[in-house]
Amino acid sequence: MIAEIIINTTAKRLQQTFSYSVPPELQIHPGSRVLVPFGARHEEGIVVSLHENDEEPRAFTLKPILDILSLQAGFQEEMIQTALWISQYYLCNVSDALRLFMIEKKGLINQIRITAANTLPPLTAEEYAIIDYVRKRSSVEKKSLERKYGTTRINELVARGCFHTKTVLKNQIADKMEPWLYFSKDDTKGILINRKRQKALLAYIKTVGSAPVSDLIKAGYSREIIRQLGGTGLAEIKSKISRTENMVSSLHSDTPWELTNEQLAAVQTIRKDTKGNTYVLHGVTGSGKTEVYMRLAESVLSQGKQVFVLVPEIALTGQIVRRFIRRFGDDVVIMHSQLSKGERQNNGLRMLNGESHICIGARSAIFTAAQCIGLIIIDEAHDTSYKQDESPRYHAVAVARKRAAYYGCPVILGSATPAISDYYKALQGDYVLVELKERVMHRPLPAVTVIDMRDELARGNYRVLSDAMVDLLKETLAAKQQAIILLNRRGFATFVMCRKCGYVVKCDTCDVAMVYHKNINHLKCHYCDAEKVVPEICPSCGSKYIKFFGTGTEKVEYQLHELFPESRIIRLDQDTASRKNSGDRIIEAFRRHEYDILLGTQMVAKGHDFSGVSAVGILSADSLLNLPAYWAGERTFQLLTQAAGRAGRGDISGHVIMQTYAPDHYVIQCAKNQNYQEFYEKEIAFRKELMYPPFHHIIRFIITDENEEFMWKKGNEAGQALRQFVKNHHSTAEIIGPYVDIIKKIRNKYRISLLIKGTDLNDVKQFIRDEQSFWQIGIVIDVDPSF
Ligand code: ADP
Ligand code: ZN
Ligand code: ZN
Repeated sequence: MIAEIIINTTAKRLQQTFSYSVPPELQIHPGSRVLVPFGARHEEGIVVSLHENDEEPRAFTLKPILDILSLQAGFQEEMIQTALWISQYYLCNVSDALRLFMIEKKGLINQIRITAANTLPPLTAEEYAIIDYVRKRSSVEKKSLERKYGTTRINELVARGCFHTKTVLKNQIADKMEPWLYFSKDDTKGILINRKRQKALLAYIKTVGSAPVSDLIKAGYSREIIRQLGGTGLAEIKSKISRTENMVSSLHSDTPWELTNEQLAAVQTIRKDTKGNTYVLHGVTGSGKTEVYMRLAESVLSQGKQVFVLVPEIALTGQIVRRFIRRFGDDVVIMHSQLSKGERQNNGLRMLNGESHICIGARSAIFTAAQCIGLIIIDEAHDTSYKQDESPRYHAVAVARKRAAYYGCPVILGSATPAISDYYKALQGDYVLVELKERVMHRPLPAVTVIDMRDELARGNYRVLSDAMVDLLKETLAAKQQAIILLNRRGFATFVMCRKCGYVVKCDTCDVAMVYHKNINHLKCHYCDAEKVVPEICPSCGSKYIKFFGTGTEKVEYQLHELFPESRIIRLDQDTASRKNSGDRIIEAFRRHEYDILLGTQMVAKGHDFSGVSAVGILSADSLLNLPAYWAGERTFQLLTQAAGRAGRGDISGHVIMQTYAPDHYVIQCAKNQNYQEFYEKEIAFRKELMYPPFHHIIRFIITDENEEFMWKKGNEAGQALRQFVKNHHSTAEIIGPYVDIIKKIRNKYRISLLIKGTDLNDVKQFIRDEQSFWQIGIVIDVDPSF
């Protein structure tokens, strides 16, 4: 056999496959991770395909694969196919796409193991100590042993045959196993006569099926009782890959709700799926989408298949994770970047071995290995965090659909505000639309009042909070209910300007105004985190009239404290949520009503289900609306509707106030009426007229350089090459730019963009792939950009 292999490297020139012969003693399949000779070195290779030796005489003999690096960490054929597709579609290297599926991205190490030989040569006491050291650990990294005992000494022992070395993948999975007790059969033969504790344990284990021994000990059963019951044959002790810190005990439980008619209809429609359709689950805020997910997951689990649940940001969506864990116990694994490598490997292995059936995580969790996927759920599927903004610039929904296609299983895109493109596909019949039009328990959607801030100014109210907003907060607090306030800008003052000459303090390396943060009493750049002291005199004209302008969350927090000194206020934004888990802690403390007002950026609008919130205030509804981008309306509508949807989810009805300078704008009006349909129709007409997605696809080149002139040269040349291609090949693509980006410079690098638009960009993609000049430093190619 001959294997086609991709070398695991970021080097662009090594992206093609290389052929190696497969020694008959190695069990190799597509996806195996192997060790191959490459030039003068040994490298890791990933087998992409295998084929029979074609018998044609070759000019040279193929080198053989040396070894299999890891039996467990290999890829499945499905993953290889998905990775190949990612590299084709998103125009990235195959090995970069393959690496998305790896937990440890790269790294070979040499291990030392004791030679199997029975007789060791005569050794000194010190040499014995070294051998003993290795024996106790079964294998040791060669480098660390050399550091401890000296390179010459170790090499000498290898030469004398005491040790052998083996190349393995760094961080190879150390399966941590843990004992579990499993129910086998009832005590019909009276084996447990007079043994009360064991009978109780058997009865318990019968109801739960199986439980980790450590949990049983915590629940008060002694080791002895458990061991003895295991010995009777009524229950059995087996080892499982250990659970990680995030997985709670299987002793938790949760009863499902009785489904509403709409929920039931949704569950039935998707359960019947035989085609592996993509479903847009359009459910208004509070319509009970999570319960639909869990019921569907349950039926997939009963077929022995696995479920993926993607959430926008794990630190802000702890609630959905906890709901799943309460219902499904340790059948759930969590995957996110804050887990240690070991934990992620453990969790990945549990999915691969089929010991867990539900994998929950943010974007990158879609690359977790699986045994057999039966359903992929993407919650808040409209969220922009599903698009990765570094290479490979994939979209998790697209990857999910690719993986699902292999297994023929359905994908659910759940949202109260589906992405315009997804909804369009549902109406076109490419996806299937499933709707939940009502909130559970017939709860009404909140009432929304729009406040025209120009009127407030005319009346002499220059504060951030309108009078109506202050009144609403007063009522809410008096009634001991909770409120959420959204302002999409963090910091205290959003810019600092000289009143005399108009000079604005900007970041030294980015072309943006710096934001004043009161808690650190410094100006901060939100693009590179640089800090600066506030100047006392204007650096430009020397005047003393330096003033703060604009309002961020910090200032609102300050003003709220002044207005409502008795109330408990907590702020949720990038500044307060940056430490590990602190976002989740803030959200949970608010849920427990330890605070009355939750104030923050879009983080407060991320699908949270707080039953005590009756009021929501949106301070600057048009902050995104005025951006010069085709998606400005869509993002604004989503943010406003999602924020409004946090109100009135419990027994009390909700009230929302939106402050705006553009009260008649269709986006504000549709968000006020929480009318997705109407918004969609207006928006899709606009997209069609101006040829934006979903009617046209977009590929964006981002061209950056420290030298502005050189950047323009690169950009213009790329633009010319693309235009030439379009002309010569009568391509339907349209080339726009290069043009200056919204932000001209970030971290000392100037930036411009070049857009390719068209109904079908496959011909252009082929051209881009082959055009060497596009693949240089300072050109980023983004397919389906989210901007
Ligand atoms: P969504 O994600 O659609 O905004 P959630 O899934 O958070 O809504 O559900 C909103 C609330 O309704 C949750 O507190 C949930 O426990 C509750 N809920 C869900 N389904 C039902 C039901 N069938 N009957 C009663 N309450 C329900
Ligand atoms: Zn000045
Ligand atoms: Zn900066």
